[in-house]
Amino acid sequence: MKETEQPKIIVLGIDGLEYNLAKKWRLKNMMQKKYSKLDLSDYKIVVTPPIWGSMITGKIDKEIMNLWIKYGKLIGDNEKLEEKKWAEVLKKVIPKKIGTWIWDNLFTPTLGGDPFDTTANFVKDKKYTTVFDFFERPWDNGIPSYGRNVSAPEQRKLTEKAIEGDKKPYRKYILKQYTEDKLKLLNALGEKKYDFIFWYTPILDNIGHMDIGRPLTHMMKHYLEVNNFVGIIKEICPKSIIYIISDHGMEAMNNKKTSWGNHSDHAFFSSNNGETIDKPFQLYDLIIKHKSVKK
Ligand SMILES: [Zn+2]
Repeated sequence: MKETEQPKIIVLGIDGLEYNLAKKWRLKNMMQKKYSKLDLSDYKIVVTPPIWGSMITGKIDKEIMNLWIKYGKLIGDNEKLEEKKWAEVLKKVIPKKIGTWIWDNLFTPTLGGDPFDTTANFVKDKKYTTVFDFFERPWDNGIPSYGRNVSAPEQRKLTEKAIEGDKKPYRKYILKQYTEDKLKLLNALGEKKYDFIFWYTPILDNIGHMDIGRPLTHMMKHYLEVNNFVGIIKEICPKSIIYIISDHGMEAMNNKKTSWGNHSDHAFFSSNNGETIDKPFQLYDLIIKHKSVKK
């Protein structure tokens, strides 16, 4: 069998995968040979794009981080980002349309634009060296900050609707996106030509925001599904090194009035070869240890 038939390395990037739930539900495929809880204390604010960006560049971008810290302060005092808190706050005092207008015209200019847009592609915009530069035939399906919008316009519209209580279209959209992402990975593996694969799915983050305040069975079926899919990938590629990583987990929000989930202050990592890391940005060094291109 040629070396190219199975990727040397496969990273399964599972946004929002909660360490405590993977452990509690004993999701063996995800836990692999060795798993660990990742410490996020270097990140100051737990938001998706700078954390994924740090995994593929090996460093935390201070400028991007500061933008998110500013954003966090703008939408609430909480150090953690409670998504779209501003929308809920504004909704209480003024009609929604005006609230959106205030956000677009008064808030975002102070940040140089909406950070969901301006940071969505910062790794490419800043021409950073990434893990992809160390492989001959890399593949990815879009990683936040590397080429995939954190929230595409359609998703953001549906997120706002979901916060207001209409969760069905949001859920449908997220599940459709997940199915498409799975197919993309299976097709890429079927092509048997890539030496490095970085697959990304936001399903557990997206559903987690919506379901984490409800009975945990709502979340469990999605965790079981992802765990099952991971098992399939492991079967297809028994020779590949497989790393599974999340940028943060999910936890219930303190505010009892809402079931909307929040990002937890730790993340998840596992490997099928026993390697381990403590912080998300260390993934970079781990990957390039196995590089196939000199740089
Ligand atoms: Zn995330």
